[in-house]
Amino acid sequence: MKTIEIKNSNEKISVGKIVCVGRNYAAHAKELGNEVPEFPIIFMKPASTLIFSGDKIIHPDHSNDMHHEVELVLLIGNTLKNADNTIAEEAIAGYAVGLDMTLRDIQNECKAKGYPWELAKSFDTCAVVSDFVLKDHSNFTGNESISLSVNGMVKQRSTLNHMIFSPVEIVKYISNKITLHKGDLIYTGTPEGVGKVNRGDKITAEIFGLGSLENEVI
Ligand code: MG
Repeated sequence: MKTIEIKNSNEKISVGKIVCVGRNYAAHAKELGNEVPEFPIIFMKPASTLIFSGDKIIHPDHSNDMHHEVELVLLIGNTLKNADNTIAEEAIAGYAVGLDMTLRDIQNECKAKGYPWELAKSFDTCAVVSDFVLKDHSNFTGNESISLSVNGMVKQRSTLNHMIFSPVEIVKYISNKITLHKGDLIYTGTPEGVGKVNRGDKITAEIFGLGSLENEVI
């Protein structure tokens, strides 16, 4: 069982499922040759794959093209089914910055064959998060800058208002497909600039005012 830490709080929350959105920034959809989606593209990572800032990201031997994807991560605060915008908004309890580590070569093979992406997105240490900040303790505007560097060189930089589907729209959409519960995490998609990392690389990422993380690939 994985638990997450909340900034300025002693509360620890058990993590349920991790739901992720793909292609939620138009420039990122374009850089991978994909169309901009008409509705959120959803996939999941098992909670057992979650690690935290400072932990090591283990590069699997079965891939030669592991990519970084920096994302805003939402913490769900209560049970939620068939939500409207107001209930979806209320259910977002906190925010963090996260990494959706992706095996791009495996993903491209799966896409070419029409198979699920599962093995490209689900492997040990593929989901990274910073500490969470509670919504009530943050000044979240939806316009924050989001960035990622590898070995000190900036690779991804955007602002959250470039998302195609907003956090509230994403939570509403998912809750109409599968019930969300307290402790579920939602990865909201990555901006452009994704790229390969190698063993020994140090990844740093930040969403201004919400959180930062630092992880080494081994
Ligand atoms: Mg992603």
